[in-house]
Amino acid sequence: MPFTLFELATTLGVVFGLFIGHFVLIAGAFYLGFWVLGRRRLAPRRIQQQPLRAARPRKEFAFSVLSIGLFSVMLTGLWVFDHYGLTRIYWDVADYGWTWFFASILVMALIHDSYYYWAHRFMHHPRVFRRVHKLHHEFHNPTPWASYAFHPWEAIVEVAWVLPVALLLPIHPGAFAAYIVILTVLNVISHLGYETYPSWIARWFITSTHHNLHHTRAKGHFMLYFNIWDRIMGTNQHDYEAMIETINARARAARGQTPTEPPRGEVHVTRI
Ligand SMILES: [Zn+2]
Ligand SMILES: [Zn+2]
Repeated sequence: MPFTLFELATTLGVVFGLFIGHFVLIAGAFYLGFWVLGRRRLAPRRIQQQPLRAARPRKEFAFSVLSIGLFSVMLTGLWVFDHYGLTRIYWDVADYGWTWFFASILVMALIHDSYYYWAHRFMHHPRVFRRVHKLHHEFHNPTPWASYAFHPWEAIVEVAWVLPVALLLPIHPGAFAAYIVILTVLNVISHLGYETYPSWIARWFITSTHHNLHHTRAKGHFMLYFNIWDRIMGTNQHDYEAMIETINARARAARGQTPTEPPRGEVHVTRI
């Protein structure tokens, strides 16, 4: 049975509302906690102690909203595919059980992580970088609002992995929604600008420092969750693990001391 234009518009509205809503809540909470309320107390944990450029949260937010709009259009397209029975999306958890429900979240993470590594390397091809990916790298000192701040072409590439997965694997919409929330939390942490993980995690997981170095140097550090392909392909920066250790040592040393105001102009908002 064909769907109506009203159903299509309603679906797009609901998808966009949920996506933007959870992003604003999660990125907003981290931004408030670290960049506003915790700015002085957490200063030793700030990755860029003397950033070359200022944070640009307003521009980051504007481009994140644009990307989320495009993600929503593409996810609504997936709903159309499903409407015509072209995907393996299922709506009753009992069809595959709770084990697969949770396992499918991990499977999506592993597929997306590998896809992201190679898609991200493609984005760093000089011709593609100049025209498309350069925008994300304008944010040399990223805040949580940069998590989805992409050029529109990049936003489409970022979400393209979802369609083949939905065509080939049985995915419950609830598992997909949970995956998106996990993705947003971890992506926001990658763009946090403050390091919160212990040093041993750096070896195997993508930390805020890992991705922050990618923003400042635009070299290596292409992964999303696990530090696997970057290790296999030798695309980790040699001083990455030492840098995390330095931040944690600085935080340990500062503990118990009176927090000080960061130097003037070190972290400020550039008007756009
Ligand atoms: Zn980034
Ligand atoms: Zn990049």
